[in-house]
Amino acid sequence: MSDQLVKIYDVTLRDGTQGENISFSIHDKLRIAQKLDELGVHYIEGGWPGSNERDEGFFEEAKKLKLSKSKITAFGSTRRSGKTCEEDGSIQALLKAETPAVTIVGKSWDFHVKEALRIPLKENIEIIHDSVVYLKERVDEVFFDAEHFFDGFKHNPKYTLQAIKAAADAGADVLVLCDTNGGTLPWEIEEIVREVNLSLDNPHLGIHTHNDGEVGVANTLYAVREGVRQIQGTINGYGERCGNANLCSIIPNLNLKLGIECLSESELRHLYDVSHFIHELTNLPAIKHRPFVGESAFAHKGGLHVSAVMKKSETYEHVSPEVVGNRRRVLVSDLSGRSNILYKAKELGIELDSHDKRVNAILGELKKLENAGYEFEGADASFELLVRKALGEYRKPFHLKGIRTSTEKRSEDEEPLTEATLMVQVDGVNEHTAALGNGPVHAMDQGLRKALEKFYPNLKEVKLKDYRVRVLSTKHGTDAVVRVLIESGDGDSDWSTVGVSQNIVEASLKALVDSIDYKILKDEAKRAAKARG
Ligand SMILES: [Zn+2]
Repeated sequence: MSDQLVKIYDVTLRDGTQGENISFSIHDKLRIAQKLDELGVHYIEGGWPGSNERDEGFFEEAKKLKLSKSKITAFGSTRRSGKTCEEDGSIQALLKAETPAVTIVGKSWDFHVKEALRIPLKENIEIIHDSVVYLKERVDEVFFDAEHFFDGFKHNPKYTLQAIKAAADAGADVLVLCDTNGGTLPWEIEEIVREVNLSLDNPHLGIHTHNDGEVGVANTLYAVREGVRQIQGTINGYGERCGNANLCSIIPNLNLKLGIECLSESELRHLYDVSHFIHELTNLPAIKHRPFVGESAFAHKGGLHVSAVMKKSETYEHVSPEVVGNRRRVLVSDLSGRSNILYKAKELGIELDSHDKRVNAILGELKKLENAGYEFEGADASFELLVRKALGEYRKPFHLKGIRTSTEKRSEDEEPLTEATLMVQVDGVNEHTAALGNGPVHAMDQGLRKALEKFYPNLKEVKLKDYRVRVLSTKHGTDAVVRVLIESGDGDSDWSTVGVSQNIVEASLKALVDSIDYKILKDEAKRAAKARG
């Protein structure tokens, strides 16, 4: 099979938005389309223009998008029984979207025709046929989604074949076989696709799977091996129930394992970025262990693994992280040995010899803090500060001379309000300030930055992105130790810091101070690098 024939058809903007807690505004959808074009997918299904105003609005705006590679497609359904295509609102909405390609879904399982549509089986075949004929006369490319194809095939193969043959005879460019309920297994897919290829005359097939059996990706790959040319899926596997087949896994598997270059090498390097960009817009918590594009996909923790990976990365990595735009990470934790420290230091731009005594000092400090409840695995920025302190490369950018927070609730129905008053000192100059927040962490964060912005104006860019508290031991009830992890970002990068104390306000304050310290030092290092040219 020629590589050029395998086309990626993204359904994130339609099927993906059916996922629980996923909702994109028109503006989000336009930005996502732009990103998908950068990635180089061949088709971007924008939505169902006949079904809601948001999708209609998207298609109006999408006409102005300047895409370099991707084609926008509109999704709809075959005409309704008893109506001509001229009279059918959904078909007309598809044409109004003015996309170069459209996809229509039709029934291929006899059970659904009888029970859901409640029309004769023969009429459904006519509906498929004349919907495709009508659209094909008016749109460049028409794809036919055969809903419940695999389930239908298992019950009545003859009828499913009749349904897709009707679409093929009417001129459909691709017949997309859908595992709508997501329960089919890879070898069933393989066998059924093989039979379809034998039964129809050189059919152009597509595959659309869901992940209910957690084999959405595997099902897609099996179909590709049987000659399927159009691959439908979503970024990060978003979608109804357990989601659609995940393009972030399918694409690299095709390119790197099956040798089918559906995207170019340089396009593939955008994968990590596109996955994270779209995830950011969903506002959902990160799933770190996603294959290829997750933060943990190339994260090494065990000391033995790390020392092996440092010598030869293939020892514990199936592909190189760089090819999908990801990066290798070495986690520091209780399990760390000297190699983790050396690797991390190198990442920070610090060359340490493995016999350097300072490595022991860092390791010692790390173990001590970890015994106290610290964890640096999720707190790279705090770890960097620790290393710099141990190496004598740290200058404290400000001193916190005192802080006080008080929370007040004026009546039962009112939300509580917290005030933080504090004093900081920078180069001998004191600054005293007060700030309000919806809780102590928010108020302290506002207050600290307000006081320090005078000296470090870049702190305006910092945003608290995530705040997590974990209670570490319950031996003593309320004097349990708490660990606070804070994630901050400034639009340029994100970093995380940690604080531990018996007092939750103190633990939060430590993590906050580290976050601000880190931002100031990061910007200073950037300026110094620029000055050096
Ligand atoms: Zn679907």
